[in-house]
Amino acid sequence: MATRPLDLIVIHCSATPNGRWTSTLDIDHWHAERGFRRDPSAAARFNPDLRSIGYHWVIYPNGARANGRHPSEVGAHARGVNSRSLGICLVGTDRFTYPQWGALLDQVRHLANTHHIPLRPADATNGYRGVCGHHELAGVNKACPGFEVADWLANDMLPLRDHLMELPK
Ligand SMILES: [Zn+2]
Repeated sequence: MATRPLDLIVIHCSATPNGRWTSTLDIDHWHAERGFRRDPSAAARFNPDLRSIGYHWVIYPNGARANGRHPSEVGAHARGVNSRSLGICLVGTDRFTYPQWGALLDQVRHLANTHHIPLRPADATNGYRGVCGHHELAGVNKACPGFEVADWLANDMLPLRDHLMELPK
């Protein structure tokens, strides 16, 4: 259970080829290179093999969810709002599989319920309380997570057609 006030879920992508497997260990290495560092005591208690990863969850192309930082740990994924947010990373760039969309729906619903985070688009008008994509935050100049989270919420959190990765037949 998180012991810090949370009011925002930020969705990311790994910016790796759509549908290709990338593990939390890979992401951990990239985040280490960028200078991210988990608190050593927090890392010792939870996921000690991951010393740097900035996200709390990673969702793989097969829909499996892997933990990064513990939800009670401040992440390193969204400048300015890390202390009050949780970060979820979809593996891919802008197209995600049915299982990934399903896992995202499940995870975001669960977190919203557990932490009483409003299930609505977070934006400047509501002080960024709710759910948003990384690029929707002020001052972010990348496309992450490759789709509009507000569109996904408006679509009853069902897969967005233009961002659906077909599984190989
Ligand atoms: Zn991001």
